[in-house]
Amino acid sequence: EKVAIFTDSKSYEVFIGEDILDSLHMRLNKYSKVLLVTDETVNRLHLNTIINSIPERIDYEVYTTPSGEKAKTFKVYEDCISFALKVGIDRKSVILAFGGGAIGDLAGFVAATYMRGIAFIQIPTTILAHDSAVGGKVGINHPLGKNMVGAFYQPDIVIYNTNYLNTLPVRQIKSGFAEVVKHALIADVNFLNELMNHVQSIEEVISDKLPTYLKRGIEVKAKIVGLDERESGVRAYLNFGHTLGHALEAHAGFGNLTHGEGVMCGMVYALLLSKKLVGLDFDLDSFINWIERLGYQWKIPSSTQFDTIYELMKRDKKSVANKPVFVLLKSIGEPVLTAVDVPVLRETFYMMS
Ligand code: NAD
Ligand code: ZN
Repeated sequence: EKVAIFTDSKSYEVFIGEDILDSLHMRLNKYSKVLLVTDETVNRLHLNTIINSIPERIDYEVYTTPSGEKAKTFKVYEDCISFALKVGIDRKSVILAFGGGAIGDLAGFVAATYMRGIAFIQIPTTILAHDSAVGGKVGINHPLGKNMVGAFYQPDIVIYNTNYLNTLPVRQIKSGFAEVVKHALIADVNFLNELMNHVQSIEEVISDKLPTYLKRGIEVKAKIVGLDERESGVRAYLNFGHTLGHALEAHAGFGNLTHGEGVMCGMVYALLLSKKLVGLDFDLDSFINWIERLGYQWKIPSSTQFDTIYELMKRDKKSVANKPVFVLLKSIGEPVLTAVDVPVLRETFYMMS
């Protein structure tokens, strides 16, 4: 299975399915050298599979980061660049981003900036990365905000070998599936109904149907990114649930709340706002029942103050003149950008605590 991505800067393909590493082997022949960037967990579980796919005549080096969000720091970024320089990665080399969204973001940013840009290939290993590995947003975190330093930089190809998903812990399945649900909510009511009908527990996410769900999610993203690579318009729809989501993530401390956990809370918030402000007609109770069955916590701890979270939301890149702009839904599959007044934000926030 594959999805073609067409953006202004580049077109490339996303291959999805079981046992598809052959397509990697063939591709690598055109590069001078390989820098494989991965994290400790993925290194331990799956590194061999990639090493075995590198053609024998090509030299490779492995750079391993701490697992999770800890990979997206200035320090790791600098260290990775230093490593690349020391081992002689040149402008004809390729970086393989082998891991989840954190590795994709870090390695992609290294690729975008190393010697003003060298090739990179995404080899995602999480469900979440069906989102992050496609579309070309790469970057690292700043202590004051998530993803505050980055670039738009498209990969040469994405090879999404779904075998890797079998080792994901439940919490990571949950995190990634939230973005699948996001793609359904912003684009396709039938897709949403299908997910709500077929997935009745988080364990059931890992099934024969998963590659199809991932492909559909990627198609939603591909279409939007194709229209607006650099987020001057419709691409912002992909941030559905992310204004509050990112703020909660930052508030909990990066890594303590997974990206998808934050986004799921943020989506419930955006759905509540959508009902209030843009006439969304949607059975939110059924939706909440469903996500609770899958183990999502959407309630905000009562100790969390709106004002604290509001300060974090204002830092969101989409905010214009300090007023947070939200992606709301007029109906399922029909997003709209809306600046929301503070009293409404506050009142809706406390509906969730
Ligand atoms: P991650 O890379 O931190 O992976 C989550 C955890 O799962 C890590 O501890 C990792 O070591 C482990 N892991 C990865 N693959 C595994 C496997 N196959 N088996 C077992 N464990 C495995 O994060 P993620 O959840 O994939 O992605 C979250 C990150 O992606 C965030 O930093 C977020 O900002 C970013 N993101 C970026 C975009 C984008 O467009 N660039 C979009 C969405 C999210
Ligand atoms: Zn996200």
